[in-house]
This record gives sequence, structure tokens and C-alpha cells, in this order.
Amino acid sequence: MRSSEKKTQTCGYGKYHRSFGIGDEMRTPLLDSMTVRTSIGSTPITTINIEDFFTSGSAVNITSAYNPPNMRTFVTIDGGVTYAIANIVYPNPHSGGPPITIQFVGIDGTALTETQSYMPEFVVAGYNASLLPIVSFSGVPTTQKQQFFDGYSTCLWYAAFLWEQFGRAGILGKSVVFPFVMNVPIVNAFWNGHYITFGRSALPAGNVLTGFDIVGHEITHGIIDAIGSNNYFGESGSINEAMCDIIGTTFEKYFDSKTGRSLFDWTIAEDPFGSPLRHFADPNIDSNSKNYYGNFWGDTSDPIDNGGIYTNIGCITYLFYLCVAGSSGVQTNDFGADFNIVGPLWPMNDFIKWVYYSYPNSLGADTYKPIKYEADFKEFVSTLVYNFPLFSTQFGVDKELLVTFKDVLDALEIKLVEYVPFDPKKFKNRSPYYVREVQRPETSVAYMPKKRVNIFSLVTQPSGGSYQPRKFPKFLSS
Ligand SMILES: [Zn+2]
Repeated sequence: MRSSEKKTQTCGYGKYHRSFGIGDEMRTPLLDSMTVRTSIGSTPITTINIEDFFTSGSAVNITSAYNPPNMRTFVTIDGGVTYAIANIVYPNPHSGGPPITIQFVGIDGTALTETQSYMPEFVVAGYNASLLPIVSFSGVPTTQKQQFFDGYSTCLWYAAFLWEQFGRAGILGKSVVFPFVMNVPIVNAFWNGHYITFGRSALPAGNVLTGFDIVGHEITHGIIDAIGSNNYFGESGSINEAMCDIIGTTFEKYFDSKTGRSLFDWTIAEDPFGSPLRHFADPNIDSNSKNYYGNFWGDTSDPIDNGGIYTNIGCITYLFYLCVAGSSGVQTNDFGADFNIVGPLWPMNDFIKWVYYSYPNSLGADTYKPIKYEADFKEFVSTLVYNFPLFSTQFGVDKELLVTFKDVLDALEIKLVEYVPFDPKKFKNRSPYYVREVQRPETSVAYMPKKRVNIFSLVTQPSGGSYQPRKFPKFLSS
């Protein structure tokens, strides 16, 4: 019974959200085939450098529906009509290489049927033939138009977040059209291997699924695909889903840190749905497991819910929560053991950077031990522990954070496994999932973009805390 409920919970937004497999080469050619618009009418598409996103007069505030009341975004305006399309230019990671330009475009999917919305080739062909217009409004936008722009604007914010956190230009790290499809008639938001689709119907007030944490979750699926992925079944599938929630919610915190807002919370998807879909602080509320093979643990071989992907997601999201927020006193785990996580607590952005660098096709490629495609929870955390000394040295993070992490592993009863020492050369040869043709612009750990917008700092308190600025890691500040 619980399993079938889980199946509808999905990404939680759609069973089709990963229709295309990991490392699927359909992804890049399809986006490469999209028409790059150079103008709207006679007005050239607006272009901005990523460093100027927060300062340029070209970026504007757009009224939004249930993200913050207004949100900085970047659009093209022609003859009083505002279009959700603009170019962002990134420095090339290879010295002397051409800049990377990404065209962000919101596609109006109002005319799509549900079936068509699940066919990316159909959508791209429709866009190229101008049958699917760019999202636009003139004058004062309707609420629904505001919601469209929420989705578009949040994607731009995610691009800024990616750049600041990981030095990554968009999902693929290459010049490409980056589309988002808005307003299709489904109660869903999903990543299909190429782009996000936002549904609209049957939600309170016809809400579109464009909260910060939802957009963060779905784009992170694209990032994880591009940097090595986790097989979408069983424990590795739970890691995949959990990292989307973790990076998605860190993205929400990032927005607050840049704007002085207070959007962040420890729940997922509460804005459009009216109530949370998942809880970091207590996954048991969602009938999700908090402990490794604890209460609510889902059968990892059961095809329902892809081997307990959502049922067991809580074990990893709760691990993140305890590392960042602590346990707020002595707690008892599902096996009767007491624990108390007092810190030092992890800054959220350091935690996600640590995991990001440990994916095989990330900036840490060739120097960090890679997270295996089919890693179970034990292998996942063991890889992170293995990489901690290198990570802490490179970024100057507190070495005591590893003690906290291990305390949390004990609390959740996730055991470390032994690994043979990592040899990058052997890894290249033996890895079946090393992403083949997907661009790897950031293979050198020494590389970081020279001119950077501010590296944000996130030091989280369990409740009501304030941010404490952290020094830039030396590695990043030059
Ligand atoms: Zn998901």
C-alpha cells in the first residue's frame, strides 16, 4: 500500500522525470539542434556576462507568484512585450578558448497535450518551427504569467548558483540553448534528460510547480547525469534523488544569502502544493526511512518505487540535515541507540561541494575517488570519507567536520567499507559509466574562473540563526 503511494509521489513530481538514461547521448544532440534566436522582432536578444547578473541594469525585477514577491531576472524586452529569453556568457575554462554562451529560453507549452509534453523531440521541433512560442507578457502579467516567469527566473538563479559553487557553466558546461517548458497540462515537474517541464493544473489556484526547491531538484538531476550519475534503482537511485533534494534546498538557501530574504526551510515543494512533500528534519513524517535498514526501510529489490528510491531517500537527506543542523539534543535511533550531534556543523555549500567533487565527471575528476554508478549508501559515504583529506586541504574546511560526519553515520548505522587506494589511471580504463562525449571543461582542479561573483557562505543554524561570513578558501580567491 505504501509502495503504491510512493509511486505517485515520484520526483516528486513525475514518474517520467527520467525517461532518458544516464550518459544518454540523446541529450546533447537534441539541445544542439535547437534554434538559437538572435533577435525578437528587430530587437537583439539581450546578453549579459555572468559576473554582471547581480549588478547590471539589464537584469530586472520580475513580479513572481509564490517565490519571493519579486525576483531579479534577465529577459529581452521588445515593443513593451517582455520575453523569457536571454543569453548569459561565461568565461571559457580553457585559457584562450572562446567564451561559453548559454541561451536561456522559456517555452510556452500551453498548446501541448500531456502526451506531447513527454516527447522532447516533438517539443524541440515545435520550438524550432515557431509553433511553440516563447513565454511573454505585455503590461501587468496575470498570476499565471507570473508563475511562468518564476520558473524561468529560478532557472537563471540556478545558473548563477552553479557558477559560484562549482565553476560550472550551465548543466553541460558548453554553449547550448537551455530551454524550460512552462504551463503544460500536467500536475508535474520533471527532468527528461534535456530540460525541465513545469505543469500547472489541479493544484491550488492552478499553481505552477516552480518553487525554488523544485527547480533546484530537477536541474540537479541534469547536473548529476552530466557528472557521472547514480543508477536510478535501489540505494544508488535514492542517492540520486537525495542529492537533488539536498542541492535543491541549498540553492534555496543560496538565494536568501544573496538577497537577504528568508525563503529557506527544511521541507520540499511546500509552496505550490500547500504542504510539504518531504521533510529533512524528520523523514518519518513522509513514511520515509531515517536510518539504514531502519523503520520504514523500503525493499531495494522491489520494482515498485524503483527499489525503494523514495522510501529510502530520507536516510541520506536526514544525514545531510544532521550534519548541517545537528540533532537538537539527544535522540534515539531506530535500533535503540542514543546519539547527539552537536557539531562542528557543516556549512551547506561545503557539503554539496564535497559530494560534487566526488562525482567522476566533475571538477574533481582524476584526483578525487569517484562515486560509483551503482554505489550503495555504504560505498557512497565511504567514498566521501576517502576524499575528505584532499577536499579539506583544497578548500580549507575544518578537519573536525569529518568527525561530525562519522558521528552522523554512527547515528544512522551506516557502516564504512574498506576501499583499495584510488588510482585515477585505472579508473579511466575500468569505468563503464565514465560519461563519454559530454563536455568536460573543468577537468583541471587548478582551474577556477578568474573573475567571480561573490562566493556565498552558508552557515546554518537549526532555527533562527544568522549567516556567519566565512573567508574565501585561498584556492578560490585568487
Ligand atoms: Zn527527482
